[in-house]
Amino acid sequence: MIRGSTQLVAIIGSPIAQVKSPENFNAWFAENGQDLAMIAVDMAEQNLAGFIQALRGWNNLRGCVVTVPYKQVLASQLDGLSKRAAALGSVNVIRREADGRLLGDNVDGEGFLKAARAHGFQPAERRALVIGSGGVGAAIAYSLCEGGVRQLVIADLDQPRAQALAERLQAAFPQLEIGNRYASLEAFDLVVNATPVGMGGTGETPLPGVLLETLSPAALVADVVTSPVLTPFLELARNLGCRIQTGPEMARAQMGNLGAHMGVMPLDA
Ligand code: NAD
Repeated sequence: MIRGSTQLVAIIGSPIAQVKSPENFNAWFAENGQDLAMIAVDMAEQNLAGFIQALRGWNNLRGCVVTVPYKQVLASQLDGLSKRAAALGSVNVIRREADGRLLGDNVDGEGFLKAARAHGFQPAERRALVIGSGGVGAAIAYSLCEGGVRQLVIADLDQPRAQALAERLQAAFPQLEIGNRYASLEAFDLVVNATPVGMGGTGETPLPGVLLETLSPAALVADVVTSPVLTPFLELARNLGCRIQTGPEMARAQMGNLGAHMGVMPLDA
C-alpha cells in the first residue's frame, strides 16, 4: 500500500501499459517489507523537460527507470552520466541524489550479461555476434567489450549504423577485434538477437534459416524480444541443441541493477 511515508521510484515511457517493471519491483518491495513503491508514468515528449525538472525537486522519489522511446533523449537532460551511459548516449535508469541532482546509467547490457552468466557464459576470450545495433544492441555490445570478448561482430540491416557502432567500440576497446563481417555462425560462442524481429508472433527470424543452421550446438543463443517468450529464432536454436536465453530472463536479471542504481535494492535482487 502507498502511504504518506512511502518512498517512490518511477518508470517513464510512452506507451507504458505493457511494461512489467512495476509488477516486479512492487512484488519485491512487498516481499522484502520495504516502504517503497514503483509508479508508471506515460508522458508526452514535449513535457519531458518539465518532468525532469519536477524530479529534481521531488523529495520522496529515489529514481526513475527509463524505457522506449526516451532512453536517448533523456540522456542529454541529466546532471551526470556513468561512463557507459555517456559512451552509449542513452540511459535506462536515473538516480535522484539527496541534493536533487539526477545521475543516469544504462544497465541493459549488464542485465543481459547477468542472465548469460547464469547460463554459464563468461564473455572473456569468447566470440560474439550481436544482431541489431540500436539502443539495446549497443548496450549489450558495450558490456561484452567490457567483459573482454576476443571478437565481437555487430550486424544490422542498417549497415552504416552497425559500422558506426563497431568503430566507436573499437576506439574505446582498441585491444579487441570488432567488426561487421561474418560468413557463418559456427565460430560464435554467443549469438544475440537485439532487434525487434519475432516480436508479436510474426514468425520471422533475424537471419535466414540457411545461416541459422550453421549455429554451433555449443553456442548460447539469446533474444531480447519479450513477447513471445520463445521466439522462432530461439526455437530454431533449441532444436539445433543450443542453450537459449529469453528476453524476459534479461529483463528479470536487470531488476537488481536498476534497483541498485536507484539505491532501493541490492544488485543481486
Ligand atoms: P532500436 O529500434 O533502437 O534498434 C533495433 C535495430 O535493429 C535497428 O538498428 C534496426 O535497423 C535493426 N534491425 C531490425 N531488423 C533487423 C534484421 N532483420 N537484421 C538486422 N538488424 C535489424 O530498438 P531497441 O531499443 O534496441 O530495442 C530492440 C528490442 O529490444 C525491442 O524489441 C525491445 O522491446 C527489446 N528490449 C528488450 C529488453 C529486455 O530486457 N529483454 C530491454 C529493452 C528492450
